[in-house]
Amino acid sequence: MRKQIVAGNWKMNNDLPQTQLLIDDLKKQKLTSDAEVMIAPTFTNLWHAFEAFRQEHIEVIAQNMHFSESGAYTGEVSASMLKSVGIETVILGHSERRAYFNETDEMLAKKVDAALKNGMRVIFCFGEELADRKAGNEENVVESQIKNALFHLDGDDFKNIVLAYEPVWAIGTGETASPEQAQDMHAFIRNTLDNKFGKDIADAVSILYGGSVKPNNAVEIFSKPDVDGGLIGGASLKAEDFFAIVNAF
Ligand code: PEP
Repeated sequence: MRKQIVAGNWKMNNDLPQTQLLIDDLKKQKLTSDAEVMIAPTFTNLWHAFEAFRQEHIEVIAQNMHFSESGAYTGEVSASMLKSVGIETVILGHSERRAYFNETDEMLAKKVDAALKNGMRVIFCFGEELADRKAGNEENVVESQIKNALFHLDGDDFKNIVLAYEPVWAIGTGETASPEQAQDMHAFIRNTLDNKFGKDIADAVSILYGGSVKPNNAVEIFSKPDVDGGLIGGASLKAEDFFAIVNAF
């Protein structure tokens, strides 16, 4: 049985007092699904959030990290630094990192390696842009993003990899992929993994959907057989909305 996961990506939102308010609201919510729940605050609030959720069923995860262990990389944070404040999971390859910070597949492959080497779990994001989909090229784009960053791994490494399909045209736009579009792409992704790593691994990897998931569309999207959860941006900033999505399972 694949893990069902709902992860909230807070992006560059919430200073420390705002983080505390959202933590308080999240603690009031009732978890009625079996999904694993994660939140990704900014670096400055990771330790605080980790401490706050120590006894709770919410895992605090990071939004990014550098591939080096340490050194002259001003402004960056390494896997071992994240681990030292209790963080076991990191989001890598978010489309905003790719678009605004020029993260390439090559860099992401190194980040994935560094995270796995440090015993971390990775939520690896990828997805096509609108022009790719309009040109009917979405599967080629997604396949090459997966191949370039993950195909050098061993099948065993996939125990610590979660995939997040996030069509760029659906992120923060209010436009969601239809449940059928999400299912078709997730099935394609699983098939791509099957061809390279075999069915057992392909069947075991959780594939999340991300892109304007809200309380009113989560049930339908999560009902699709190859959709194992969601990566949630905007709606994760309100505890009630986020938990309505988590409990949509
Ligand atoms: C995201 O940033 O990963 C995301 C899916 O954002 P939103 O839910 O706001 O579209």
